[in-house]
Amino acid sequence: MFSIKGAYSLLVMSPRKIIAARDPNGFRPLCMGKIGDSVVFASESAALDAVGADFVRDVEPGEIVVVDQNGIKSIKTHCGGKRSVCVFEYIYFARTDSVIDGISVYEARKRAGKILARTHPVEADVVIGVPESGIDAAIGYSEESGIPYEKGINKNNYIGRTFIKPTQQQRQSSVKIKLNPLVSAVKGKRVVMIDDSIVRGTTMARIVSMIRAAGAAEVHIRFSSPPFMWPCYYGTDIPSREELVACNYTIEEIGKLCGADSIGFLPAEGLCEMLGSGCEGKYCHGCFTGEYPAEITKRNLKGKERSGQRFDNAPCVQKPEDL
Ligand code: SF4
Repeated sequence: MFSIKGAYSLLVMSPRKIIAARDPNGFRPLCMGKIGDSVVFASESAALDAVGADFVRDVEPGEIVVVDQNGIKSIKTHCGGKRSVCVFEYIYFARTDSVIDGISVYEARKRAGKILARTHPVEADVVIGVPESGIDAAIGYSEESGIPYEKGINKNNYIGRTFIKPTQQQRQSSVKIKLNPLVSAVKGKRVVMIDDSIVRGTTMARIVSMIRAAGAAEVHIRFSSPPFMWPCYYGTDIPSREELVACNYTIEEIGKLCGADSIGFLPAEGLCEMLGSGCEGKYCHGCFTGEYPAEITKRNLKGKERSGQRFDNAPCVQKPEDL
């Protein structure tokens, strides 16, 4: 763990021993539970619920937990990292019913929606969320703004996440199969639609056009994260900066590209408020701000080069601080 830089949580198992370890920065979650006398580990607390285990605690950043016939032993490696859990776990990756490092994912997403309602208000008749991760933020936006929440989009649960599909054509056809607007919820209405993030912008453009085709009078899009502008060196498959819509267009232009009447992003300063008090300086927001909490190794950079990604500091059209 002193040698390996970056994000990982791992489990080593043999018939007589389990060894769980979380990287020194704690980028990825890892928690421990119990079923009777048996010890279990999972990335997210929702998985403990699924197998009927009681949550015991999160594995600390830089901690190794060894479980064998002698019991549970904790080794604090003190590898020198600074706690920096990936903020995108709360925005998108984690299940809404998980609690990571004491912070409920559901509550964090709702808080993001409330911040959006304050920073990017709009006159509208209904708030809807793009399933799944946009829904909690939409509920928060609705609570803060007083605009009623409706389930405006139905999701086919048998389709996976579209942004990781390899080709544009595959991503587009998955969106059509995956999402279907509820006409009665949006027809004739001014709609505020919340999604968790925007990557290339093409998926959002299709969703806006679907909501308009369902009869919406206006479509205002809001994102419960700041725009992606930088690569992730800690395992998240964010496309190269050439493909990131926020790197190539101004915010206003992105709104137009998506066919929306208005657009708004969670301000970068809102990330800390989203996580709750006491989180200042304890999370990673590198892909949104370009400020990385842990060393970017040559190996990280080579990996990006191999996958054709740019990793220089060439300026984006829009800087997060301008939003
Ligand atoms: S750069 Fe972004 S996606 Fe990567 S670990 Fe940091 S917050 Fe998460």
